[in-house]
Amino acid sequence: MSEQNKFFQNVQTYVDQAAGFTKLPKGLIEQIKICNAVYQINFPVKIKDEIKVIEAYRVQHSHHKLPTKGGIRYSEMVNQDEVMALAALMTYKCAVVNVPFGGAKGGIKINPKEYTEDELERITRRYTFELIKKGFIGPSLDVPAPDYGTGEREMSWIVDTYIQFNQQEINASACVTGKPIGQGGVHGRTEATGRGVYYGLKHATTFSDDMKKLGLEPGIEGKKVIIQGFGNVGYYTAKVMQENGAIIVGVAEYEGGLYNAKGIDIEDLKKYQIENRTIRNYPKAKFVKQTDFLMEHECDILIPAALENQITKENAPRIKAKIIGEGANGPITPSAEAILMKKGVMVVPDMYLNAGGVTVSYFEWLKNLSHVSFGRLDHRHQDDAFNKIIDLIEGNTGRKISKREKESLKGADELDIVRSGLEDTMVNSYENIRDILKRHKKMQGLRTAAYVDALEKIGVTYLKMGVFP
Ligand code: GLU
Repeated sequence: MSEQNKFFQNVQTYVDQAAGFTKLPKGLIEQIKICNAVYQINFPVKIKDEIKVIEAYRVQHSHHKLPTKGGIRYSEMVNQDEVMALAALMTYKCAVVNVPFGGAKGGIKINPKEYTEDELERITRRYTFELIKKGFIGPSLDVPAPDYGTGEREMSWIVDTYIQFNQQEINASACVTGKPIGQGGVHGRTEATGRGVYYGLKHATTFSDDMKKLGLEPGIEGKKVIIQGFGNVGYYTAKVMQENGAIIVGVAEYEGGLYNAKGIDIEDLKKYQIENRTIRNYPKAKFVKQTDFLMEHECDILIPAALENQITKENAPRIKAKIIGEGANGPITPSAEAILMKKGVMVVPDMYLNAGGVTVSYFEWLKNLSHVSFGRLDHRHQDDAFNKIIDLIEGNTGRKISKREKESLKGADELDIVRSGLEDTMVNSYENIRDILKRHKKMQGLRTAAYVDALEKIGVTYLKMGVFP
């Protein structure tokens, strides 16, 4: 079996590489590595006039913290190995960013583009019902979220189905995150993974000694970036990177890629993609038919933000980027990683870099449990206090504070709070893993450091429990 078909094994390989840097007992590492519960379901759904059997999964990788957490993927490529690997990555991801959940993941093996909205709704509701039946969903048990092929719409069907079966449960809306605002969602969740990728790369590029080794200037501004994937993660990453001065020279999708050395206007491209349902023939960039080939173009930062196994030992030697930021889960195979490390490429790993999604999901879950939006209680109070201070300053100095200056200082609303919480999480977590890397002379890269961080945190939790489950 090639490395591409062994996603779960690849994650295990990364864990093994990191385990040697920890003092955790071997048996404990084994316990951390395995999947605690794997649920495979087949259920019938009436599609047009036929009965179609739908194959679906939910995997809870680690119960060391509850609830377990992770998205639900709709894709024809879904299989047990993939869902297990993605669930494991969620465990490590949550540990790295100090989000107090175990890891989980779900998947339905369908191509959502082949179904009508009504059919997707029936599939989603039936899947949710199957999860309820076996205790694989619930605010304190297992909390799904969007992933590849799903979004707010699917989450709204899930929460609605769950509430129908759990009307006595006051926290029922916390059974899933990534919901529309009207159903208990939080501002800033949709953009969170992409924005988190930006915060992570922004912080990673602030260290001038690290950048010097790569032959780069510190900062995001002026960096040439190629992004693979223009769905939720790719789009928001590109958008926020561009708003902050990066030049997006390439955007790749499954149907081919676009390249323009002078930069691609991301909002304009998104408009084109929505109108034409493709990025093909976009007039303001060169079309590159072979999407993989676009990743090999000249750039400073490459951001795979689509699916796993995109950079393999086959194409890794041809990658020219100096930094690879993993917006997707598992885009680099272990043997590709070894090649990239030898080339001196800086890999900012998935389990840290794309953790913005689950971080803001955590905020949404907290909001649902507290039944109040962030900033609701003290927003006006903060504004009033702030206006009094402004009056005092203006009275004492004789200088008028401009509207813009006031805007930047006013009381924080929910979106401000979510964004600042996200940035703080991304900055602190990066500092942690960078410190670990600096402490170990023999350690190869940030991924191993992130795994060491995760293993130690999870290991401590298990050891504190005293008894193995
Ligand atoms: N699917 C996202 C991920 O892979 C988000 C998970 C969540 O919010 O629970 O991290």
